[in-house]
Amino acid sequence: MLFKGHGDKEIIEKVMQKSESKTKIKGLKRIEVSGRVARECIDIAYGFFTPLQGFVGREDVESICNKMTLSDGTLWSIPIILDINEEEVLKKSIKEGDTILLTYSGNPLATLEVEEIFRYDKMKIAEAVLGTTDEKHPGVRMMIGLENTFLGGKVTLVSHPKFQSPFDRFWYTPRRLREIIAEKGWRRVVAHQTRNVPHSGHEWLMKGAWFSANGELPVEKLETGILVNCIIGPKRTGDYIDEAIVLCHQQLNEHGYFRKDVHMVSFALWDMRYAGPKEAIFHAILRTNLGCTHQMFGRDHAGVGSYYDPYDAHRIFDQIPENKLNIKPVRVLEWWYCPVCGEVTYSGLCGHIEQRQNFSGTLIRSMLKDKVKPTRLIFRPEVYDKVMECADLYGFGSPFCTEKYLANRQPVFTLEAL
Ligand SMILES: [Zn+2]
Repeated sequence: MLFKGHGDKEIIEKVMQKSESKTKIKGLKRIEVSGRVARECIDIAYGFFTPLQGFVGREDVESICNKMTLSDGTLWSIPIILDINEEEVLKKSIKEGDTILLTYSGNPLATLEVEEIFRYDKMKIAEAVLGTTDEKHPGVRMMIGLENTFLGGKVTLVSHPKFQSPFDRFWYTPRRLREIIAEKGWRRVVAHQTRNVPHSGHEWLMKGAWFSANGELPVEKLETGILVNCIIGPKRTGDYIDEAIVLCHQQLNEHGYFRKDVHMVSFALWDMRYAGPKEAIFHAILRTNLGCTHQMFGRDHAGVGSYYDPYDAHRIFDQIPENKLNIKPVRVLEWWYCPVCGEVTYSGLCGHIEQRQNFSGTLIRSMLKDKVKPTRLIFRPEVYDKVMECADLYGFGSPFCTEKYLANRQPVFTLEAL
């Protein structure tokens, strides 16, 4: 029960014992993988993607594209694919039935039991998952960038990756998270997904979601928790640096904006596809595996540009039969500042429509860039101080990703050389 994940399957955990890995990888053909594939190997092996035990094969890809399920009928919205150059397959004479070693940055990462070597129309996947084949869509560009041959098969990590500071403090495997949730006595857990440093609009999103998730439970004993789950993946210039995202969410906890017994910060490795509604389903599956019972979905979840309606990611949940997903979406509108109310208000409640002031991410960013401290009503001073500290400590002077940061940042995790 404690470890029952998506599809009612036991949470996967497949990492070799230290004593056995050296012998097990000896003599295996080696393939160096991309950052995305490395992150997804870690996700698979620790059960973030339960019930997946590896990279999907053709039948699953086909089923995900046509029916939004794995071939066994389990709800699944985004194919997890290992792509490889065909020349490399030929040159290393990789065959179905082989076990090969995947390396990342030259170090052993995982073994792959090659069950299937196949090709699939990448644009068909893009059309099915992203709803477009427009090259301006970042998810389409990612698909185009894939090699044209795919390897399907089971993955086992050869050692535990070592997460670097400050990420080590926030790294929890799904199994560990579930134990912590049980220790805390949380009966309900609402996930808040983020790639941002929190302003008070985000803070209220979480607070509102807590009320929704807590529902009819008695309140004298707090049994509902908020799990902040930051998405750590590839960055673009102008994004908040990863270190600031995790540490600033932690500031809200350390400075009492959230009680420590109802709030905790974690992260997951994930390369955003910006697939809007289909990605919302995927995120819900991921958080089911983390032990969450609810997940908050705001405006334009996992969207980009104007490819999706801002509330498509809310509506898709209406199409999912209840027994297919063991997590409830908490669907929320926007929180913003109302000068008449004199406070941060909910767009579904405050009637001063004309006067409302949207939280502008762009405005807050430009203030931070100019080192102007926003008012505490919209940005907590402790968060501001931490953003600036992170800029100096990790960001080469900027809280936002610059070319310099992208080229010189500390890796999020490293692997043992073995
Ligand atoms: Zn108002």
